[in-house]
Amino acid sequence: MKGSTLELVKVTKRYGQTTAVDAIDLKVEGGAYCCLLGPSGCGKSTTLRMIAGHEAVTDGDVLLGPHNVTDLPPAQRGTAMMFQSYALFPHLTCVDNVAFSLKMRGIDKETRRAKAMELLDLVAMTPYAERLPAQLSGGQQQRVALARALITEPQILLLDEPLSALDPFLRIKMRAELKRLQKELGITFVHVTHGQDEAMALADLVVVMNQGIIEQAGTPREVFNAPRTAFVARFMGGHNVIDVPQGQIAVRADRLSLTPLEGATALVGSAMPAVVRDVEYQGSFVQVGLEAGQANELAAQISEAAFDAMPLQPGDRVAVSWVEADAHRLSTVA
Ligand code: ADP
Repeated sequence: MKGSTLELVKVTKRYGQTTAVDAIDLKVEGGAYCCLLGPSGCGKSTTLRMIAGHEAVTDGDVLLGPHNVTDLPPAQRGTAMMFQSYALFPHLTCVDNVAFSLKMRGIDKETRRAKAMELLDLVAMTPYAERLPAQLSGGQQQRVALARALITEPQILLLDEPLSALDPFLRIKMRAELKRLQKELGITFVHVTHGQDEAMALADLVVVMNQGIIEQAGTPREVFNAPRTAFVARFMGGHNVIDVPQGQIAVRADRLSLTPLEGATALVGSAMPAVVRDVEYQGSFVQVGLEAGQANELAAQISEAAFDAMPLQPGDRVAVSWVEADAHRLSTVA
């Protein structure tokens, strides 16, 4: 299996008056792990379904490798989809579930069974081959669903919130397995999620969507460290969006410095006066909530050692400062 490049060119989806996806351009390199990230209703699943061919494109083109697949039916695109609800056939054993699409293609029983066993081995489910889905845990069903999606040897695997039905412990375990498998297989993954931690953990390319457009696409570090818009800064979390005379900036909560302000001490440089609102011990750091004028509610994360050296209490006045390199200017339009 080998991953293809995926390219969306001005892809648009309209449902009557609603524009679910608005002329998006995106390029995902072959073999990359891409996460479409954003809040509910931002157009992630619609985008995924258009790539799969389960939803017609209103405008624009979907290119896979050298082919324009915009008007091809799903089975002819070289894509496979893994759904949130595993949608395994309840009356078929694991191995028959995995072999199902080869049966539909008229491949003989022996060949399709052998191939299905190979895929079950890949997802460490060989001992469960003859079980029915109801006799498996959620995580095991997930693995079978993955094997079933991979048996058609897709160039691109499309995953719609594949981990959201799992409990938090299993989700983190499956997440690591997905990533390992993707690197091992070398095929392109496009994974829809509304969890920024999931996207950061998995993706080579994070695509942050909002109201049918792409606000920012980049590596997890690029998107987290240098958010381009206030939406991205807020959605990724861990940032303060601050109004300064030149406009709006984002500064990571762990990059704010606090110094006690006593009496009429003058502020230096870009420092802002603020009042401590609350102090929360979080283990490896202390989270300090601050009020800095009407428009700015800030959060600073201070290391435990730094906090112990300079303890603060609600009501204390402080100067909030940051170094220029940590201030990322935000634009209003993507
Ligand atoms: P997400 O996956 O990010 O939660 P969706 O792609 O499902 O978002 O939906 C994007 C927008 O398109 C939403 O406003 C949603 O209500 C609308 N939408 C999705 N599917 C349909 C449909 N079949 N008919 C009408 N509107 C739809």
